[in-house]
Amino acid sequence: MPLVSTADIVRGAAESGRGAGAFNVIQLEHAEALVAGAEAAGAPVILQISENAVKYHRALEPIGLATLAVARAASVSVAVHLDHATKPELVREAVALGFGSVMYDASVLPYAENVAATREVTEHCHAHGVFVEAELGEVGGKDGVHAPGARTDPDEAVAFVQATGIDALAIAVGTSHAMLEKTAALDLDLIAAHRKAVPVPLVLHGSSGVPDEDLTRAVDAGMTKVNIATSLNQAFTRAVRDFLAANPAVVDTRKYLSPGRDAVAAEVARLLGVLKAG
Ligand SMILES: [Zn+2]
Repeated sequence: MPLVSTADIVRGAAESGRGAGAFNVIQLEHAEALVAGAEAAGAPVILQISENAVKYHRALEPIGLATLAVARAASVSVAVHLDHATKPELVREAVALGFGSVMYDASVLPYAENVAATREVTEHCHAHGVFVEAELGEVGGKDGVHAPGARTDPDEAVAFVQATGIDALAIAVGTSHAMLEKTAALDLDLIAAHRKAVPVPLVLHGSSGVPDEDLTRAVDAGMTKVNIATSLNQAFTRAVRDFLAANPAVVDTRKYLSPGRDAVAAEVARLLGVLKAG
């Protein structure tokens, strides 16, 4: 059960009312930790690489191929996803490398342009069997539809899914990206309204700001793919910082990255339980 398509994980989870954990890979150690956590939980997992992480590495291929290799060696189902791509050429590169899905984010564009660009990307992806997630942006600003006050309207969501042909929809229901405290107030009634109206699985971004019990409630209300990055970076960095504080003479990077990797694996195993994944 190593590398599978994202469609298998997300649709399987949606059909049985479970969550699908999607966690971000920045370093190779993240990919290793995410798979170790999923294996400990006995649950499938989605490894995602964002366009920002690609910018950091100055290329998709090295981290992308390494992540695909880690996925292929796993004993649980693992999919590899391109997160928040704004450039169609980056989507095409991910498709060519063998990614199972992409999130194409044209949410900063006016609605008609978002629809046209998303439909074009979706046609290319579907021609190669790749699953597409997108979002519709009606609220501007740095965090777009993931700003705390932003909300996605269910009727507009249905129209967007029909007009673009996408396979999963990210909706704004009260979270925002990069939250360091778990203080987001989720609109569970709105999630339920979307679940009833929207014909494809729903995706929650910015989930690091959501308390555990609300993540479980979000899945129960109909949320399927749950993206978590920041809280894993918090776990990684805390472990590295503690290790270096206790061992100031260490210079071997393996010595201090190991506790970081272990901390992420443990947090992923715990979160997959919260999400009822598996
Ligand atoms: Zn996001």
